[in-house]
Amino acid sequence: MRCQICGEEAIISTSNGTFCREHFLVHFEKEALNTIKRFNLIEKGEKIAVANSGGKDSLSLLFFLSKYFKKSNEIISITIDEGIAGYRDKTIETMEKYTKMLGIKYKIYSYKDFSGMTLDEITKRTDSIPCSICGTFRRYLLNYAAMENKADKLATAHNMDDEAESIIMNLIQNNFDNLIRSGPISGVVKDEGFVTKIKPFIFLSEKETMLYSILNGILALHTPCPYAEFGIRNQVSKEIKVLEDALPGSKRKMIEKAIELKARFKDSEQKKINHCKICGAPASGEICGVCSIKMMLGQ
Ligand code: SF4
Ligand SMILES: [Zn+2]
Ligand SMILES: [Zn+2]
Repeated sequence: MRCQICGEEAIISTSNGTFCREHFLVHFEKEALNTIKRFNLIEKGEKIAVANSGGKDSLSLLFFLSKYFKKSNEIISITIDEGIAGYRDKTIETMEKYTKMLGIKYKIYSYKDFSGMTLDEITKRTDSIPCSICGTFRRYLLNYAAMENKADKLATAHNMDDEAESIIMNLIQNNFDNLIRSGPISGVVKDEGFVTKIKPFIFLSEKETMLYSILNGILALHTPCPYAEFGIRNQVSKEIKVLEDALPGSKRKMIEKAIELKARFKDSEQKKINHCKICGAPASGEICGVCSIKMMLGQ
């Protein structure tokens, strides 16, 4: 296996190319910078909040953004503490050290402070799938944290695999609204209650992000969430890997098609965004997902 640029021994081969160490690092950062430029994800002077889970992807994103945008933009790292015993506590320690090393401000928002209960406590009181409650709370809290810190953009480290999984899951769950809201830059309709979400790594695979983190000495803890097995994402992820092996480039094509679909929708009739009658946050119905869960739990 030889590097497609210099012919030296390659260390990685994906549908994005075959590269030696040196040219892989160039390729990775070029791909992310191209995505930022192509979709105008970051403008000079904007404040960028980075959603940081402490995993290899979010620490790599923090490293990359700090390398290229720290001089021109203010960057802040935000972690959501779900309150899952033995899972989040260890990663918070790593993130505190890492953000300090990069000289980036770091803030934690917890489900407990926000709703009075940890995810562990919530799951004991409901039959809902933990990931579905967790996802609703996380989306809400990340937006809330970005708003509170007056961020212009909220950057997440979603890679090509994550995005392809989300596309399939939205199709399976018949969630067209979420499908057209995703992509490298969120939203079809602008609303002052939303901070625009951006995904600079959307055209880089999980394998590439993993290698980028290793080559840059980013040591992320791999503590699996105990609830992960209950979600359907795991199954979808396995199927997508099979598809990509059989038809290399499938994930990228899927994402490009979803972007095309979103653009078509943008040109058509604009959808009105409601605001939650209880908390005022943007919502698809009269009451947002988080307030509905809190009501169900008697909070
Ligand atoms: S696997 Fe599910 S419960 Fe665990 S952190 Fe992710 S979304 Fe939350
Ligand atoms: Zn090379
Ligand atoms: Zn609400």
